[in-house]
Amino acid sequence: MPWVDQINLRMHSIRRMVAPVGVVASVAVLVGLDSYSRRAEGSKISAKSSSQGEGIQALTALSVVGVGGVALCEGWGSRKSTKRIFKYSADDDYPYFSKWHRTLMRKHLTPKVYKQLQPLRTSNGFTINDVIACGTTCGYSVPRGMGCMAGDYESYSLFAPFFSPIIKEYHDFSPTSRHTTDLNPSHLKSVKDLDPNSEYVLSTRIRVARSIRGLPFPAASSRAARRKVESLARSCTETLKGDLQGMYMPLNDMDNDVNDDLIQRHICFDNPDEWSITARLGQDWPDARGVYINCQDLDETPDFVVWVNEEDHLRIMCLRKGGDIFAVFEKLVRGVNAMEKQMKEQGYQFLHDEHLGYVVGCPTNLGTGMRASMHVKLIKLAKLPGFIDLCNRMGLDVRGKHGEKDTRQSGIFDISNRHRLGFSEVELIQLMIDGVSYLIELEKKLEAGEEIDLEKEFNKV
Ligand code: ADP
Ligand code: MG
Repeated sequence: MPWVDQINLRMHSIRRMVAPVGVVASVAVLVGLDSYSRRAEGSKISAKSSSQGEGIQALTALSVVGVGGVALCEGWGSRKSTKRIFKYSADDDYPYFSKWHRTLMRKHLTPKVYKQLQPLRTSNGFTINDVIACGTTCGYSVPRGMGCMAGDYESYSLFAPFFSPIIKEYHDFSPTSRHTTDLNPSHLKSVKDLDPNSEYVLSTRIRVARSIRGLPFPAASSRAARRKVESLARSCTETLKGDLQGMYMPLNDMDNDVNDDLIQRHICFDNPDEWSITARLGQDWPDARGVYINCQDLDETPDFVVWVNEEDHLRIMCLRKGGDIFAVFEKLVRGVNAMEKQMKEQGYQFLHDEHLGYVVGCPTNLGTGMRASMHVKLIKLAKLPGFIDLCNRMGLDVRGKHGEKDTRQSGIFDISNRHRLGFSEVELIQLMIDGVSYLIELEKKLEAGEEIDLEKEFNKV
């Protein structure tokens, strides 16, 4: 027998001996990990109470046993892809962070957490390095200060030691809390058009993000999975009737000038930028992306729109001129319910979890997945120092008129609910009604020549 074969035979028997040890060791790792995650802040993110949560635990178990077992069984000299994960130690592979990386990812991805999570991958193949890609490559100007993106539902439980503290810090949401959903417009306390003369509120938009259970989120999607999302979205929207009825426009077939026009009119999402590409949201662009509008002619202005495969599987929204937020919410809810019903008829459902509410890729959007925004003209108020702090204090976020990537100061601001998780949709819209009314009141006072001290206002709200 040639010496090479002899060595191979020996290696084979060593592997056979090591294999059971590998599995036992992996189970031990799993038990350790599980007891760690029970102790760790936010361990309940794995949604243990729900049956889906149990499914996830089982998957987690399999992947840890799988990775640990294979790693030990294959051992040295293996040419299998799992070896790649172990080629460099977690210490050598830990990301570089400069003083400009100021994301929550940077804060919570400690070397210890990285070491623990580095070998793991979800059943869609998503690793902690995929999760943090948009924050390490594009760390200086990441939207929302996060620097991370989940690739699938399983990411939140498998990488819980990383995601839990981030969710806790961003949403101030206790790991034992349950998120409540309330999409009933009649539960709103004060129902009023905030600006009946359309002097301050130019337009109102409410969008909700939705994932389809069982399919990887856009950051981990394959072409086939992405096309599946699109075909489900198409068949759901095709059945919409009455004032929701319209047409689906795939980006693949869209001329550039039409696309640009729809983007300018806030009907279509923008093309991927550097951040979305590093977050893996721009793969294969524009394949399987599109927008549904509730009209048949582009000269008309739709008020019900569905975005397909932008940052989430679906972004369902209603947008109208003026400040009648109740009417916008009412129509949105009708559209969302109709989509959900159709999704169920096709054997699918929106991904919802008892703890995290609607689960989507960006941790900022967990819970309601809802951003209710108003374009508000606040020319005088916005010039006072402390304007943004005051808005934040009231639970409101401030963006530019052209969305989260717009940093120009035009005097018209996109004011929206800052929170998404731990508050119901109705609570958040109520907060918008109260907050924006207050801002308009202050703007009117300034216009009338009154002096306003925003520090005092800050302490009042
Ligand atoms: P989101 O991430 O919530 O979908 P973005 O900040 O990415 O929101 O903006 C997406 C698009 O929606 C942009 O064109 C933005 O100008 C538009 N938009 C947001 N709020 C409003 C509003 N109240 N009225 C009109 N357009 C809006
Ligand atoms: Mg956006």
